[in-house]
Amino acid sequence: MDSTSKIVIVGAGIVGSAIAFQLSKRHRNVTVVEARRPGSGATLASYAWINSRDKTPRGYHDLNRRSLDMWSRFAQDLNADIGLRWGGEMRWSASDEGAETLLNRAAELRSWGYPVAEITRDVARAMEPGVVMEPFTSAVYCGIEGHVDTQRVVRTCLNHLQQAGGELITNDSVASIEMESGADGKSAVTSVLLSSGREIPCDVLILAAGFDTTALAAMAGIEFSQRNSPGATVVTEPQSPIFRNIVCMHTPRDLPDLLMNVRQFTDGSVMVHAGSHSGAISDTSEDDPEKILAEIARFIPILAGAKLKEIRRGMRPMPEDGFPVIGFSDPVPNLYLAVMHSGVTLAALTGEFAAIEILDSEQVDILDPYRLERFNQ
Ligand SMILES: Cc1cc2nc3c(=O)[nH]c(=O)nc-3n(C[C@H](O)[C@H](O)[C@H](O)COP(=O)(O)OP(=O)(O)OC[C@H]3O[C@@H](n4cnc5c(N)ncnc54)[C@H](O)[C@@H]3O)c2cc1C
Repeated sequence: MDSTSKIVIVGAGIVGSAIAFQLSKRHRNVTVVEARRPGSGATLASYAWINSRDKTPRGYHDLNRRSLDMWSRFAQDLNADIGLRWGGEMRWSASDEGAETLLNRAAELRSWGYPVAEITRDVARAMEPGVVMEPFTSAVYCGIEGHVDTQRVVRTCLNHLQQAGGELITNDSVASIEMESGADGKSAVTSVLLSSGREIPCDVLILAAGFDTTALAAMAGIEFSQRNSPGATVVTEPQSPIFRNIVCMHTPRDLPDLLMNVRQFTDGSVMVHAGSHSGAISDTSEDDPEKILAEIARFIPILAGAKLKEIRRGMRPMPEDGFPVIGFSDPVPNLYLAVMHSGVTLAALTGEFAAIEILDSEQVDILDPYRLERFNQ
């Protein structure tokens, strides 16, 4: 691509920002348009666990694993404190049946080269004396996982964009996409029109608008649907350190009540992501946040009396089959889509590989299963 070509990115969540960062390292003419405040969509609500733990099938696990392994270099390139914390995740089971499920999955993951170790009750307790693991039938620990402060990631990516000469437009949304028809029966995006009335010509348009990507793509004549998956997380006021070794904890998946995921930011505030047994993405975080904080104190007594700071809400971007959509679209060849769940884990990979596909016109083969065209087959 010509260095004068104009690239416009719609959406300054973690995905759009990571792409903006990677592009702006090599290309000056990048503009990011964000309807609200950067990082205020799903990226704000995110539990932001960088992992490939519950990802299947194998190819999708490998995609997430590859991105997980790219995160340290991404963080190093960002050259700022982005609240990235490594240390791994621990979970345990409460029943014999739960132990079987937990240990079988751990064995499968190990056979895929993913280091989830079975640990004894004594080891689990010694690692995390502040966590009450009762009832207990088995436990596993995966040391390569981490989490990150998504707001800092977004801010840092966009700072780099601006320092490299790119433009960030906030509180203004893309209201329409202008197109022209080519002789080959395909269309091309020529510009985007913002709510403010400003028109921005573009040679390449990247849609990284999370859940709203479906509506934006429709403006360019591209149809794809997403699941309706609202999510929320609960954040406390800063607390004393809750973990000694791990950085993420999941309560047993086989307990008959709430499932909770817990992490602690570097300022001490604690994020709890709660769900129900009806599925990993069935959130109950906003139903009764005080109850969630009371429940989590059962497992982490130091959190008893922790004050609620905020509830963060967002729509998970999630194409209908649950997998990402990444890449140029066939009917509109200068329109690039990047919409996905696990967008925090996948941000490192998506930013780097999107830059290859856009600037070098090369298709990255590991992304082939995640093209939009799969829905037409
Ligand atoms: C509760 C919850 C827990 C999660 N946990 C994890 C986890 O542990 N690990 C993980 O990897 N992922 C997790 N995810 C998923 C992850 O957070 C998302 O995949 C990721 O944040 C998506 O980022 P994004 O940039 O694509 O979308 P978003 O963050 O939603 O950003 C899209 C942006 O586009 C903007 N926009 C929309 N329309 C327009 C328009 N017309 N013009 C201009 N701008 C527009 C929006 O304002 C928004 O800021 C979780 C998500 C939720 C909700």
